[in-house]
Amino acid sequence: MTTVSIVRVAGKDRTQVTAGVRRAIAMAGGMDDVIRPGMRVMIKPNMVAPPPSAEVGACTSPLVCQAVADVVTELGARPIIAESSARGADTEAAYRIMGYDALRAQGYDVVDLKQDKTVRVPLADGRVLGDITTFDLVTRMDAIVSVPILKTHDQGQITLALKNLKGLVIDADKRRIHQLGMFEGTVDLVSHFKPVFAVVDAIVGQEGMGPLLGLPVEMGLVMAGRDLVAVDAIAGRVMGFAPAEVPITVAAAARGLGTMEETAIRVVGEPVASVARRFVRAEEDHRIDAEGISIVHSQGTCTGCRNGLLSSLFDMRADGSLAKARGLTIVAGPTPLPAGVPQEYLIGIGSCALPEAKNLPSFVKGCPPNNVDIIRALTEERPA
Ligand code: SF4
Repeated sequence: MTTVSIVRVAGKDRTQVTAGVRRAIAMAGGMDDVIRPGMRVMIKPNMVAPPPSAEVGACTSPLVCQAVADVVTELGARPIIAESSARGADTEAAYRIMGYDALRAQGYDVVDLKQDKTVRVPLADGRVLGDITTFDLVTRMDAIVSVPILKTHDQGQITLALKNLKGLVIDADKRRIHQLGMFEGTVDLVSHFKPVFAVVDAIVGQEGMGPLLGLPVEMGLVMAGRDLVAVDAIAGRVMGFAPAEVPITVAAAARGLGTMEETAIRVVGEPVASVARRFVRAEEDHRIDAEGISIVHSQGTCTGCRNGLLSSLFDMRADGSLAKARGLTIVAGPTPLPAGVPQEYLIGIGSCALPEAKNLPSFVKGCPPNNVDIIRALTEERPA
């Protein structure tokens, strides 16, 4: 039987968040059997990309990471908060928007892994990845604590403690994981890095078009546990997803990296039923589809193109130019062109696009493509 805790947080100030995080960790059994004095411990937040604001539930709160870091320090170990954002995304900008500079000012180590030396590492038991390129600092850690935020994801249904590990490889490998299979590729990382504990920031989560541009959801919770598969299974349940609906949870459980069997998970603190709320699925968030624009992705379309395209569309909606894109079909990344759409209404984006998309009259190169170039292509004059 493994334990997952669910704790209500009284509010969003430091005292309240710290109390909630400490209680969640303690109720899950504490970290003292996995964090020993003298260890270097990576605290891995989810900083997917610079969010529109700190309040949208896209990135882990610095107060949650700070509270986890303090527990690690009290155990005699050295905490280092470290992350590399999505392909093409600026980790430092995400840290700045979320307020991690305040932690640095207080003496906490907060590292942008994209600035670090890289190291190629073979994956002996990788299912789709024979090797990865990670960061020097990651190879020098004794333990990793995954500290995700509770949110939906347009490819994986939800992104929690397991999916969070994708920030531990360089951008080129993030792309490779999308191309080779995001679910098994991510589980290859979990299997290799073997994080020892998870603390989920569920104070303000995100639903709909996650992982960056969804809508915030006030949950007022922190969850914790040492079995990341079980934590994801229960946190997913809180969001209204059965564990079997979430491919990464299923793949990790199938490889024996933890349990998603709810009869084998002891939930302590708040019962799931008392805190659960059905999160809007990414595909149910029709804020852009309603404008008559079609977006075509494939499994190989990674977060860089997905986020860049959506943020461009949101910018166009804000400045009133979105109507110009009505009737267009945007083909992102290495995705076959849909049948039956005239070429003049198709736009390909992303340097890894298939040759048929690159040969379209309207194609936006870049990896990821620049938002300004996407908007320019979407607002070009077209035949009526
Ligand atoms: S072009 Fe887009 S989909 Fe392709 S690797 Fe770059 S960011 Fe990812």
